[in-house]
This record gives sequence, structure tokens and C-alpha cells, in this order.
Amino acid sequence: MTYIVTRLCLRDTACIDVCPVECMVLGEPEEEWPWLYIDPDTCIDCGACVPECPYEAIFPEEEVPLEFEAQPGIWINDTKELLPDGQSFEGELDGLPVKLKNAKQLEGGEQFDLTEDIMPNYDFYVLGPGYDAIEMGEAETT
Ligand code: SF4
Ligand code: SF4
Repeated sequence: MTYIVTRLCLRDTACIDVCPVECMVLGEPEEEWPWLYIDPDTCIDCGACVPECPYEAIFPEEEVPLEFEAQPGIWINDTKELLPDGQSFEGELDGLPVKLKNAKQLEGGEQFDLTEDIMPNYDFYVLGPGYDAIEMGEAETT
């Protein structure tokens, strides 16, 4: 098993430091990899990251909701391809600074199959940059 991050992730990185095996990596480039991703081969299923997430974006793989119903005002964050009406956002959400390239605030009641977000967590480490994204992120901030 592993834990999975979904499109509810708003990239604040609040979870990263608690992971005992350092297997959580912020996606880069953000346009292609908009969330944070968990390395399924390294995750030890400790669950420590779940309560750290202010947006309840992390689930055990078996518990990722098939029919997730949005509460009013929540945000989703995804690629332009999958969220064509998203927009960039920079500001405070729940008192936390957030900066996103393609996100959308929801009215509430929208339904999503969040299991679609499982495969990108695997793909990030197989097809995407994986741990190299750490250096890519550092290069962007310097
Ligand atoms: S469940 Fe534990 S090991 Fe897995 S990503 Fe979360 S903190 Fe890291
Ligand atoms: S704490 Fe939640 S929202 Fe923040 S980076 Fe981690 S998974 Fe994403």
C-alpha cells in the first residue's frame, strides 16, 4: 500500500517535514505536476502526513474517494488539461500563503472521482522527475 496525494493539495508543503522516510516531493514543473507526490516504493504507511494537511488532500490508497463531494469554498489544483477553467492564484487560504498556477475554487456539491489521482502519484516517480524535482524547485526559488 501507499498513501496518495490528490488534487486537493495546494502545495503548502506542511506535510513534508513529518515524513520519516522523506518520500514526499513537491511536483515540478508545476504545470505538469501540480501537487505533492508520495513515492509508493518508499512510503511506510505510517500515516503521519495525514493530520498535517490543512486541506485533507492525503488518503491511504484504498480509501481514496470514488465519489468525493466538494464542500463550498474548497479549492482544487490540477493541470490545464484536466482543469481547463482553472486560473493562477496567489493569496492566503485559511491563514496560509498559497501560490498556484492553475486552481479553482468550488461552489460546493461538485462530485469528483479522486481515484483518478492515484496513477499520477506512481507516474511522477516512473515517468516524471521523481526526486529530481527537489533540485528543480530549489533552482526556481534561487
Ligand atoms: S504515510 Fe508516512 S511514510 Fe508515507 S508519505 Fe505519509 S508520512 Fe511519509
Ligand atoms: S500538507 Fe496537504 S496541501 Fe500541503 S503539500 Fe502536503 S498534501 Fe499538499
